[in-house]
Amino acid sequence: MAESSYPIGADWARRAERVIPGGLNSFSRHLGRPYGFARSSGAHVWDFEGNRYVDYHAAFGAIVLGHNDPDVDRAAAEGSQPLDLVGIGITRPEVELAELVCSVIPSADQMICCTSGSEATFHAVRLARSVTGRRLVVKVQGGYHGWHDAVARNVISPPELAYGMDPMSSGILPETLESTLIAEFNDLTSLEELYSRHPEQIAAVIVEPVPHNVGSLIPDPGYLEGLRKATEAQGSLLIFDEVITGFRHALGGWQEISGVMPDLTSFGKAMGNGYPVAGLAGRHEYMQQFNSAGGSVLLAGTFTGHPASCAAAVATINKLRDAKVFERTAELGQRMRDGLTGIVAELGIPAVVRGYGSVWCLYFLDGEIHGYRDLMRNDDDRYREYHRRMTDRGFLMLPMSLKRNHVSFAHTEEDIDATLEASRDVLRELA
Ligand code: PLP
Repeated sequence: MAESSYPIGADWARRAERVIPGGLNSFSRHLGRPYGFARSSGAHVWDFEGNRYVDYHAAFGAIVLGHNDPDVDRAAAEGSQPLDLVGIGITRPEVELAELVCSVIPSADQMICCTSGSEATFHAVRLARSVTGRRLVVKVQGGYHGWHDAVARNVISPPELAYGMDPMSSGILPETLESTLIAEFNDLTSLEELYSRHPEQIAAVIVEPVPHNVGSLIPDPGYLEGLRKATEAQGSLLIFDEVITGFRHALGGWQEISGVMPDLTSFGKAMGNGYPVAGLAGRHEYMQQFNSAGGSVLLAGTFTGHPASCAAAVATINKLRDAKVFERTAELGQRMRDGLTGIVAELGIPAVVRGYGSVWCLYFLDGEIHGYRDLMRNDDDRYREYHRRMTDRGFLMLPMSLKRNHVSFAHTEEDIDATLEASRDVLRELA
């Protein structure tokens, strides 16, 4: 369909509002005003009106090679030929994917396929409770692990609710919410306090090794090692939620970079370069609980291990392995971070640029950043205004303050430089 023949976004937004609650299929897809998208390719997406955007939103980080990567698209199409979904027995792509993941992820002996990151962390928490016979789970303030009841609290909390009770949804049983305890990232003392208040009751600590759901909190030296030591000493499982860091920062995820081995690891997003596929991997003794012959943890799902998604993931991971994707995207990410750092310094704006590899974010605050407590100084209004003006200029980023942006293998130096030029203009206006 020619771009000009797409109905305009506002019409589609009205149609959507009539039949989809709020007109959006996920709470975090709001862009301030109606936007509809019709085409994507490489580093770019086009809205219904045919306007082109340089895309750093990247479907919340699911796109790592670039949109519509031809090798991944071809593999997905071929993945459901000569058979689509049978739903019984096994298919080749799901076995190939599990073999590949177990060969590149240092702590993975076995893996189960899931269709979303939320499903992966759901299984991780349930498995940890089963293995330890304990009830409680610890997450950090600011960490996001999906929408299910055990983890849907205390992500981007306002100061009055941070570290207290801040559910993301109504309808969650209070006892479920209370079974999840909140620690501070980069603060081992906050975890020790929870262990001393709840001895032998904590089943697992679940953590994004780099909490990218609040931008980019880099672990202080010794922090992840400290988590590993404490969980081991206390008989809890350590779950690394690598749904963002996995297949984005290194083939073996943050565990490869840090050398800290979790008991369980969840993956999703970049793993399939946009196709719906996720996974949970871990030590054999724990993963065997999912074995229906002898294990006691339920594993089920009509679409789990779908051949098209698994084939897309195999193609993505092979491409990540063969091409110099991590080096190239890190180079471009650094160009963005250096450029923005120079601009905010030149304009004297109280802002800091953070990130790692292909990820970058702009916090509107001054001073040191270690944990969520520091991020509460962020000027959210200023971010929202920066975001709105950048979108108007054709640069698509995450709409929420305190989130991160992503460079893909398809971006170029020209894309980065154009983004920096537009940022300079916008930040000057905001200064
Ligand atoms: N874990 C992390 C770290 C995430 O960032 C997300 C999604 O943003 C999830 C889990 C949930 O993944 P999904 O949206 O695929 O359910």
